[in-house]
Amino acid sequence: MREKESIRNLKGYEACQIPFEIKLDANEGKNILLSNLYEEGLILDNETPINLYPDNDAILLKKELSKYLNVSINQILVGNGSSEMIELIIKTFVDKDETILSFTPSFSMYKIYAQIYGANFVEVNSNDDFSLDMKKMIKKAKEIFPKVIFICNPNNPTGYLIDLKDIKNLLEETDALVVVDEAYIEFAEKSILSEIERYENLIVLRTLSKAFGLAGIRVGSMISNEELIDIMKKVVSPYHLNSISQYLAVKALQNKENLKPYIEEIKLQRIFLYKSLQKLGMKVVPSYANFLFFQSDIKDLYNKLVDKGVLIRKFSDKLSKYFRVSIGDPSENKKFIGCLKEIVKNENG
Ligand SMILES: *Cc1c(COP(=O)(O)O)cnc(C)c1O
Repeated sequence: MREKESIRNLKGYEACQIPFEIKLDANEGKNILLSNLYEEGLILDNETPINLYPDNDAILLKKELSKYLNVSINQILVGNGSSEMIELIIKTFVDKDETILSFTPSFSMYKIYAQIYGANFVEVNSNDDFSLDMKKMIKKAKEIFPKVIFICNPNNPTGYLIDLKDIKNLLEETDALVVVDEAYIEFAEKSILSEIERYENLIVLRTLSKAFGLAGIRVGSMISNEELIDIMKKVVSPYHLNSISQYLAVKALQNKENLKPYIEEIKLQRIFLYKSLQKLGMKVVPSYANFLFFQSDIKDLYNKLVDKGVLIRKFSDKLSKYFRVSIGDPSENKKFIGCLKEIVKNENG
């Protein structure tokens, strides 16, 4: 098996989930301080008693996710954002000094967690136009035999979308665990999810933080074959996903039909922002996500925008002239472009 030696014989903590009349097994107190959340119509129904530990299996949430993702409940693990899932994968499978492989630039947390766990982090450069060459990735994997390969699709921060056949090629050409982080897939479609049974080394990550607009409740999920899910279930902390987040995530997934018009709006706004940035002389990378990555020679652009109350993302080193801007609602986007126009005018005037 693939997991670390120390995990192989681990028997995970087993949360007791026996039906009860009187629950006196876990030293839970009585909720006297927030007792009228339900009566006040705030958030919870009386099915979610917050004085008790949450459902360790998050069964209602996994049921809703299984409908949305079209996979079985046993192929899902939920957690505090996909960030917790990234850490869990490394914690479970990567020993100190083993290697993790990824493209660069990509999502920064892969590298941060790799460092925390003492792993080697090896990066395959993107092409000059920020497209990603899977042949280069496969070649590297065959040279260095990584334990885990992280693929972010669409890629953060560039918005580049990798072809599914390239990901399948990678899955076939390596024995490493291939983690496909689909945090932005709702804006792109073309998920690899339907292949989880075909490839025993595939793990897919999803989140409610981006298209679902629920970053504050920290809910993400990992989808893989049952064997890998069962190994990671042993390692994850008991009761890690709180009951309020579980409750709200279930409610949100029950309203998921409202997602489509929102995603369509973002795609239209993406075209508007892309063209507007180009008109203002920025070099913009085509994006399949809810952000755009662009290059500008304007000195101190980041701070000039901060002075106008607009926050975008800046980068350092080789990418110090590059920026990532989230696609907001139409009025936010217009204001952002307005501020940028003023800055450009001042530069030229
Ligand atoms: C935002 C983001 C995440 C983290 O999402 P959470 O579920 O909020 O932890 C993971 N991967 C990528 C690529 C992201 O951009």
